[in-house]
Parts: sequence; structure tokens; C-alpha cells
Amino acid sequence: MQTKLFIGGEFVDGLAGGTIEVTNPFDQSKLADVAEARAEDVDRAVDAAGRAFPAWSRTSPSERGRLLLALAGAIEANAARLAELETRDTGHPIRDSANLDVPRTVLGFRYFGGMADKIEGSVIPVDPGFLNFVEREPIGVVGQIVPWNFPLMFTSWKLGPALAAGNTVVLKPAELTPLSSLAVAELVREVGFPPGVVNIIPGYGATAGQRLAEHDRVAKLSFTGSTVTGRKIVQASAGNLKKLQLELGGKGPNIVFDDAELDAAVAGSAFGLFHNQGQACIAGTRLLLHASIADRFLDAFLALARSIRLGDPLDRKTEMGPLTSRIHQERVLAYCDVARREGGEILIGGRAPTDPALARGCFIEPTIVRAAPHHTVCRDEVFGPFASVTTFSDDDEAIRIANDTRYGLGAGLWTADLRRAHRVAKAIRSGMVWVNCYKRVHPASPFGGVGESGYGREMGFDVMREYTQAKSVWINVDAKIPPFYPR
Ligand code: NAD
Repeated sequence: MQTKLFIGGEFVDGLAGGTIEVTNPFDQSKLADVAEARAEDVDRAVDAAGRAFPAWSRTSPSERGRLLLALAGAIEANAARLAELETRDTGHPIRDSANLDVPRTVLGFRYFGGMADKIEGSVIPVDPGFLNFVEREPIGVVGQIVPWNFPLMFTSWKLGPALAAGNTVVLKPAELTPLSSLAVAELVREVGFPPGVVNIIPGYGATAGQRLAEHDRVAKLSFTGSTVTGRKIVQASAGNLKKLQLELGGKGPNIVFDDAELDAAVAGSAFGLFHNQGQACIAGTRLLLHASIADRFLDAFLALARSIRLGDPLDRKTEMGPLTSRIHQERVLAYCDVARREGGEILIGGRAPTDPALARGCFIEPTIVRAAPHHTVCRDEVFGPFASVTTFSDDDEAIRIANDTRYGLGAGLWTADLRRAHRVAKAIRSGMVWVNCYKRVHPASPFGGVGESGYGREMGFDVMREYTQAKSVWINVDAKIPPFYPR
């Protein structure tokens, strides 16, 4: 298991010699002491990335693509080991780590490997006599800060497009879950990325993260995390006006209309909510049910929620693991208390499981609360296996409740009526809308939010614009230079 900082192609200790203890959220056992990056280590990593940038940005795009494809292959070859490491570090059930996290990571690197030599400029129809063309150039040293909920998958979402475009990178994983990104760093070295092109430095947000965000030689920062931290990043980045991309929190509405195919809506809504213990920015956490089907939907949904198998995340049968940290478990339990205090009705869950076999883990039972749209739990991101249920009586009311949030990341709706599907999808203020499905993602499809869910987009050609800047070149091919001023 790799536990050191990856700077300039070498695994090194932090200059101050500090470490971060990383624990397994299932049994609190210690997994590793990982080297801690502090401000001076961030500086070293930025220096290494700065030195690597000129050569990397001039490396042929197809060679950059080849290395990303090789990295995808190396991750695939190490799939079982990476899935287990991710499960131990995060609590993701092994069936998710093996069937979703690792394959999605491979797919991401493969997609952006293929993208590297397909980033094209354009020729602009300007005045006769001039040729005007636009090139997309890499930006420089890119800082990337990621959260703990999908640490492995985020390596491909972040590194893939940045490297394909010719930038060099300093990535700071979350202090809670640094292990899989350090394992990827080993593979980065193994497949032959030049030293300094990728630097991975675990550290705390308030020290290493803050330094990266304010660093005047970091030209762009891509941040995924909470809206609260996103605000701090905006302020810290002001010094050199670095380009920002913010993927922040969400409070996804998931609307079930009276004509929905109920079995599919129940199963899809459960995946949208409970996958990854609900620790997903796009989770469908506000269930909006048409009053006429609410009871039938809830009977089936609560039965399904009750049947979810909580357990050791390394057990292939486990469907829900622990939350990723004790502190986060306590935060979610506190929201259960807030829901009760404000008059919400806990229909199921609202507590840690009583099974002694789970006592050491950071578990929360699947929790569904009947609540009114103004309740705190319908407004704040809880980030656990926790949904509020509210009923509505017509489409306009559903849209109004869905849009009554400061977030706008993912949203879902279930209906058999094609016209309603289009109308409502258009009316929802959100970066992504899923119809008769929930939480589909693909590296080719833009991913990001509106409002306080942030700005900029991951994935597809959109993200390549985030990691490049336009250079407009004017060439006089046949234009007569007019007199300075007619005199
Ligand atoms: P967080 O904001 O606490 O931490 C995210 C990262 O920021 C961590 O690496 C942390 O060390 C770092 N950080 C903390 N304080 C910092 C500071 N002052 N300066 C610089 N960096 C700092 O978020 P979290 O609790 O780790 O993750 C959960 C949040 O992430 C949720 O709000 C979730 O919705 C959001 N998220 C968003 C997306 C998206 O794509 N929109 C995806 C996943 C998670």
C-alpha cells in the first residue's frame, strides 16, 4: 500500500514529517499512516508541475492519449486490488467498488485518453482579407481538490481531461480517503508519465487545500466538495484570479407522477437515494410523490428500504456499508433529530442499527422522513441514506417544490407521459435531469450544477473547454492596411 506523497515522480515524506491516520469505517481499524502534505509540500508539488508543464504541453496529443489509455489498462489489471482498497478506505460495498467505482474509473481514463487528440480549434469567418483561427491551449498547472465520497472515480474525472488537454496537475485527495489515489499514483509512474506531470498530495483542507487554492502559480483550480468549502475556495483563489470550476452540493428532487410505472420508480429511486449510503452530490434525496400514488409507492419503497442488507462492506452480499467517517455519521444522526424536532415523521430508520455486529461501524439505517418543504431536512444537504417525502397534487406544484432550493445539480422524474417528461425536465432548474432512471453518468455527458451547486462542467467536450483556453490568432492574408486616419 502506498502511503507517501507523490511529487515529481517520486514517493516522498512531507517536509515536516507529519502523518494522517487513515481508518476503516467498518471496524475503526487503522489502515495506514499517510504522509501529510503541508503548505511547503504543496509548493514543492506546484514547482514540480510547473517544471513539467512546458514539455508536457508540447507532447503530441496522441502520446498523451496513449499514456492515459495505458493508465486505464493498468487500473483494469489491478481492478480487484483497487476495489478492495477503496472498500476498506470508504466503506463502499465491494459489489459497488468492483462493479461501479473501478469500471467507471477505467472508462473515464479511457474516454479522456481517446479525447486527447480530438480537441480541435476552429476557423472564424471574420472580415475579408484575414484568416482568424482559434486554438485551444492548455492552461498550465492545475490544482484539483476532491472529497471522500468517490475518491478513486474522481481521479479519472479530474486527471483525465486535465492531462489530455496538456496541463500538469497537483491533486489533493480528501484526508479521510487518500489510499486509492496514491495507488493510482503508483500506476501513473509505472506506465511512464514523465515526472511532475501528476502530483498527488494527501493533506488537510485548511492547510494543504487552502495553500493550493491561493497559490499564485496554480492557473486553474477544479474543486469538488461542499458549498461551504467552495465559497472559501472562491475567496482564496482571488489573489491571482485563477480559473475556477466548482462541483458542489446538491439536494436532488425525485418526482414520481401518478402515471409512473411504480415498480421501476421504486427500484430506481432506491438506487438514486441509497447507492453509496446516500453520500452522493446527485442523490435523489427529496422524494416528491403525487398524492394519489403516495401510499402505494411508500408501501413498496419502505419495504425495499427495510430489506437492504447492511453489513461488512467486504462481504459480496452487503448492499449498504457504513458511512465513510464517524464524524459524518454523527452529522447525519443530528439531522434525524432536527427532523423530529421540526415535526417530521420518521417513517423508517433515523438511527444507527442496533445489530451488535455493526456496532463499531459508522452505519445509519435507511431513513425516510415525511416532511414539509420548509423543514431543514428538505433544504440542507444531509449526505446520507436519508430522504424526505413530500406529496404534491399537480405538475406545477411538483415543479415549484423541486425548484425551491438553492442547489441545482441532479433531478429525476418518473412518468409514462412523453409530453409531461419533456415539459417538466425543461422546467426543473438543474444541471442534470433523469427521466425514468436516476443517477446515470457517463464521461461523454456533461456533469455539473447551477445555483449553489457550482459552475463549470465535468465530462465530455464541455470539460475540455474548462481545461483549455482559447487563443485567437489573426493573420492578414490579403487585407490592405488602411491609412492611419484619413487626413
Ligand atoms: P468538503 O468541502 O469538506 O471537502 C472537500 C475537499 O476540500 C477535501 O479534500 C477537503 O480536504 C478540502 N477542503 C476543506 N476545506 C478546505 C479549504 N478551506 N480550502 C481548500 N480545500 C479544503 O466536502 P466533503 O465533506 O469532503 O464532501 C462532501 C461534499 O462534496 C458534499 O457537499 C457533496 O455534495 C459534494 N460533492 C459534490 C460533487 C459534485 O460533482 N457536484 C460530487 C461529490 C461530492
